[in-house]
Amino acid sequence: MKFVSIFLILILFALLYNLISANKQSTCSCSKINSVNIMSEKIAKPDSEWKAQLSDEEYYVTRQKGTEKPFTGEYYNSKEKGVYKCKCCGNKLFSSDTKFDSGTGWPSFWNPFLKENIELHPDNSLGMKRIEVTCSKCGAHLGHVFNDGPPPTGLRYCINSLSLKLDK
Ligand SMILES: [Zn+2]
Repeated sequence: MKFVSIFLILILFALLYNLISANKQSTCSCSKINSVNIMSEKIAKPDSEWKAQLSDEEYYVTRQKGTEKPFTGEYYNSKEKGVYKCKCCGNKLFSSDTKFDSGTGWPSFWNPFLKENIELHPDNSLGMKRIEVTCSKCGAHLGHVFNDGPPPTGLRYCINSLSLKLDK
């Protein structure tokens, strides 16, 4: 009798395990589909067109991974409400609701507008281990993300004003 009940419990566990892994697989394929959709919306422009569209400073920061001097940008001290969009393509990047005063001299946010609207890349340039943040739609360089931000995320997205355009 004991043996039978142990056997039944084992079968139950096996069934549960199958159910859980089946669910996992279905979410996996969903996110694959989503990422394909996002990929198809990407903007690929020749460098000459970006150069014509942007100012020299904007081009240097967004297309050549430059950094504006701290305490010089348009938005580092801004308390205005709105959505910060990509200077290059208008993709919604950050909400003023998640902006905070980091004291660094660059606009700082603790969360992106939508996770899908930004991309993260390891950046080992200048002898530092950092994580670069780019626009998922046009690939514009935005800045870097650090893990010394405020709650609830503990993240600090340190973004160049020159990469942003506030939509009030
Ligand atoms: Zn963009």
